[in-house]
Amino acid sequence: MGLVIQKYGGSSLANTEALNAVANSIVSRFKQGDALVVVVSAMGKTTEDLLRKAREVSQTPCQRELDMLVTAGERISMALLSMAIQAAGVEAISFTGSQSGIITTNDHQEAKIIEVRPQRIQEALDSGKIVIVAGFQGVSLEREVTTLGRGGSDTSAVALAAALAADACEIYSDVDGVYSTDPNLCAQAQHLPSLDYKEMKTMALYGAKVLNADAIAFAQRAGIEIRARKTGEGRRESVVRRGGDGRPAFVAVVGLKQVTRCLGLASGPSLEQTFVETSGARMVAAHLSGQDVELWLDRTNIPEDASDTLHAIAKAQDLKAYDCSLLTLLGLTPDRRISALEEARMLFKEASIDLLATRVVDEGINFLVGSDDFEKGTTLLHAHFVEKT
Ligand code: ASP
Ligand code: MG
Repeated sequence: MGLVIQKYGGSSLANTEALNAVANSIVSRFKQGDALVVVVSAMGKTTEDLLRKAREVSQTPCQRELDMLVTAGERISMALLSMAIQAAGVEAISFTGSQSGIITTNDHQEAKIIEVRPQRIQEALDSGKIVIVAGFQGVSLEREVTTLGRGGSDTSAVALAAALAADACEIYSDVDGVYSTDPNLCAQAQHLPSLDYKEMKTMALYGAKVLNADAIAFAQRAGIEIRARKTGEGRRESVVRRGGDGRPAFVAVVGLKQVTRCLGLASGPSLEQTFVETSGARMVAAHLSGQDVELWLDRTNIPEDASDTLHAIAKAQDLKAYDCSLLTLLGLTPDRRISALEEARMLFKEASIDLLATRVVDEGINFLVGSDDFEKGTTLLHAHFVEKT
């Protein structure tokens, strides 16, 4: 019995039926004696829908207004969930990020949490209520509403767990934890019961969607253990914590489906910045050797037409741009990597998958392939390097 922070993702709150089911499990947990602070994401694809609407009225929407818009998504979830819990006869109250005392920098769309002043949450807990908090949002010292970047509700949950010295931080989604590859792509994916912060952060940065990379970084700094679980039945979970439990490193295959590769000769300084600032894409890799540039930009969290924006910037800079996918094989020992790269080349060749580029990094090996080869490449790498060993 203690204080538990739970977070429910958009897929667990896809409609009012799913939301009612979440309310029921919160109520039964509360009745077992735990105090609960529940962080919610926007329902289903609400955030995407709101961002699409913004693009329908403006090609270059102002970031402040985007934050005003998308924070409404989490407000809908929090109010409905609170009502559903009250309807089950238990006292609940919802708070926005600002009311929860989540103070951030003033960087709209990508604000960082500076401090949490959870007085109102604490008072509500002390009076025996279940507290529901709108994730992904805060308020700046300039009193502007801000958001923490896509998938930011995980960070809200971790920050609250730290500020309230919670006994547990549980992140609920539609998968029961972290796997050696995406279980939706590959039935042989192996469940990973425990991961180190660094392993999880790398998996998230190279494409694992279960947990947000910023949230992991926050948890690592604050020493918060994260339990990734599936909403509803079952107790299987993955725990992300400080390593050193003697477990051997695991091998995993992760992927970013929507990547744009730009290459050519550098025409000036701050080239990388131009790409990131104009398109909102995330720079996954930038190699500059002499005059040669090669940039890999992740388009996962930006609008679909951002690919056009990237191609236009590339053209203006006299660079070539290609849309492709990035697969990453993680967790091999350094001396295994070189032979693994050769084996992978052979595998891809036999399967008639064109390898556009490869790169050996500290964490593993990157493979750039055509977007059509994303699924096939993933299952191939997983079958050879994970299932066979
Ligand atoms: N609703 C926001 C998003 O879709 C935040 C979150 O889900 O964590 O990015
Ligand atoms: Mg969402």
